[in-house]
Amino acid sequence: MAPSVPFIDLKAQYLSLKSELDAAIANVPESAQFVLGREVEAFERDFAAFCGSAHAVAVNSGTSALHLALLALGIGEGDEVITVSMTFVATVAAIQYTGAKPVLVDIDPVSCCMDPDLLTAAITSRTKAILPVHLYGQPADMTAILEIAQRNGLAVIEDAAQAHGARCGSKRAGSLGDAGCFSFYPTKNLGAFGEGGAVVTDRDDVAQRIRMLRDWGQERKSEHHMPGFNYRMDAIQGAVLGVKLGRLEQWNAARIHHAAAYSRRLSTTPLALPQVAEGSESVYYVYAVRHAERDRLRAALAAADIGCGIHYPIPVHTSPAYQSLGYSPGDFPETEALAREELSLPMFPELSTAQIDAVTAAIEQFFDD
Ligand SMILES: *Cc1c(COP(=O)(O)O)cnc(C)c1O
Repeated sequence: MAPSVPFIDLKAQYLSLKSELDAAIANVPESAQFVLGREVEAFERDFAAFCGSAHAVAVNSGTSALHLALLALGIGEGDEVITVSMTFVATVAAIQYTGAKPVLVDIDPVSCCMDPDLLTAAITSRTKAILPVHLYGQPADMTAILEIAQRNGLAVIEDAAQAHGARCGSKRAGSLGDAGCFSFYPTKNLGAFGEGGAVVTDRDDVAQRIRMLRDWGQERKSEHHMPGFNYRMDAIQGAVLGVKLGRLEQWNAARIHHAAAYSRRLSTTPLALPQVAEGSESVYYVYAVRHAERDRLRAALAAADIGCGIHYPIPVHTSPAYQSLGYSPGDFPETEALAREELSLPMFPELSTAQIDAVTAAIEQFFDD
């Protein structure tokens, strides 16, 4: 009997670290410091070092990280920010929260990330920033994006919510632009036991503004320098993330290993497989394959007890929630093709060889029938 394969198995990861995590969590009520505090500060130091950035500021979600990074860079009403339609809606929503207008561009069909060749035509006198998304754990073409940003005097904010530890050349995703935004939602490569996020930056002024904005604009208690938000990280999340960060490199290496096994086994099938750009390294938040008969393949895998996902079936520009942006179906052909064809295979560090065999055998069977 082939084993059943879930799309993701968060319980397996908890059990592999149970005693360390339980002890770290138990410290929090003992210290009675429930919000920000020592655990969160320790995690911020370690996460900044991991990313190779001068600062990390922890917040309560990836969405808050994006919102505050944009605000800290001075983006607001009347400004335009260029991003992609092929992303989780939070990327676009965060731009709207500031009052700025999201301007969307199509993706490169190989990297599945922002196509830098489309940027120049999208830049206007109102453009203030470019917001690339490192989709599926695969870095966007940062060399080209940073060059265009510099030439046009624009800020770059990286949405690295799917790319903790991914490499762009010698640097980590999130550390190349003016600010890099991370989510620690439980399913992400580094996941909390609830909501969490962080902004990394080398800029002292940006880090300082985000620290104030996340805590009601305060620098010290009752000294409100600007209107702010309650976007603080819980101490329990800081404690959990501190423990898990120590394993992130090993977990990412396991994902890369599983991806290589999938790619080897599936190379003889008609599926289009993920391709990583020269000089960069994906951390495979998602192992994304493509095929014209995606929905039929997904149903066949579900019948074999194999869980899959789709990232994302409805691009932001065709979503009913974002009709006010003024785009129509047909505007971004590469994005729309990916939305029709993409299938996310089971991917998590604890995936076993027997489970990978079951997935690839079921796919081979589908194409043999
Ligand atoms: C998860 C995610 C976010 C939002 O993060 P939350 O922590 O859920 O708010 C933003 N962008 C991308 C690309 C994501 O995958």
